[in-house]
Amino acid sequence: MTLEHEPVRSSMLPYGQQSIDEEDIQAVVEVLRGDFITQGPSIAKFEQQIANRTGASYAVAFTNGTAALHGACYAAEIGPGDEVITSPITFLASANCVRYQGGIPVFADIDEATYNINPDKIKEKISPKTKAIIPVDFSGQPVEIEKIMKIAAQHGLVVIEDAAHSLGASYKGKPIGSWADMTMFSFHPVKHITTGEGGIIVTNNEIYYKRLLLFRNHGMTKDPEDLMYNEGPWYYEMHDLGYNYRMTDMQAALGSSQLHKLDSFVEARRKIACIYNEAFAEIEGLVIPYQADDSASSWHLYVIQWKPEYFTVDRKVLFEAMRDEGIGVHVHYIPVYKQPYYQSLGYDMDKCPVAERYYATAMTLPLYPKMTDQDVYDVISAVKKVVLKYRKS
Ligand SMILES: *Cc1c(COP(=O)(O)O)cnc(C)c1O
Repeated sequence: MTLEHEPVRSSMLPYGQQSIDEEDIQAVVEVLRGDFITQGPSIAKFEQQIANRTGASYAVAFTNGTAALHGACYAAEIGPGDEVITSPITFLASANCVRYQGGIPVFADIDEATYNINPDKIKEKISPKTKAIIPVDFSGQPVEIEKIMKIAAQHGLVVIEDAAHSLGASYKGKPIGSWADMTMFSFHPVKHITTGEGGIIVTNNEIYYKRLLLFRNHGMTKDPEDLMYNEGPWYYEMHDLGYNYRMTDMQAALGSSQLHKLDSFVEARRKIACIYNEAFAEIEGLVIPYQADDSASSWHLYVIQWKPEYFTVDRKVLFEAMRDEGIGVHVHYIPVYKQPYYQSLGYDMDKCPVAERYYATAMTLPLYPKMTDQDVYDVISAVKKVVLKYRKS
């Protein structure tokens, strides 16, 4: 029995963590014993598997998801002064990738219910300089991608879906990865499957595919079809300024091994989300995550909102109270334009009122496949304890 003044847990439960098993370890060891630890066959194999899984024709793996987004902005020919519309409630990389190319991120407010970018707000932000849209499937809940593709088609815009949260999710029965012009997945350890660091772009467009390959490898090509000259078998040409953004074979082999388990990982996340939903739905003052009828979330994050009018303290105190109970809660995300870097570029505060309101009340609870029943139960106990302590009577 736990005493009132004792924390629910004595050590901190993280909000997310990878699941690595013996099969994963063996897959990496096999590469280490082989001939290629980079630029070998494991990478093309992993790329093909991700393409198959997400319903895309091509996939290009990168050192991380941020580099992959940079590659996608290059492939879409985003350049200085071009505007790209994205969500303020996302990780920094969704906007930074535009800046790498000299472009200007433009933030369109989120939807009150889904926390995803609001398609009507996208329309309001379109200008003659708009070149692309980077919608983000926040928490694993797909954006209204069909609507967004239609808006993009009407204005000749490229859609780069930031699906760092939504590997394994689907919209209207079709997998995420098969909708946008390019789709990015991240393999950071908190994401659905991991390669340590890693990311990938999937696309059905051959031109984008070739530009992604070029960009990942110094802007260099050896493809006889693309060469301007050919001075001999050693010959290579650099056609543009690219980077070294290559993934290693160790990472790709880990990715392939992890991908076998994607369905069970997503299933485990859905089960925990379901238990949370049941536990929190009836608690006055809490808002549980939205679930759309026409899409299936892959539940990267479980976010609750604490309705301010129900509590005697603000989110900061509630957050600290949860941490004091040993629950490693988090906040996803600070609206990107509030960052000092973006402020210094002239982005003013309070640009997206819905995002601001969301940010003031949101809290991410732990959610990952390895969580035990006891872990899940501890999170629920801690939330209930904090609610009782701080709810207005
Ligand atoms: C994780 C993440 C990224 C970047 O991925 P990295 O692999 O960490 O570089 C981009 N966008 C979102 C929304 C993310 O959560």
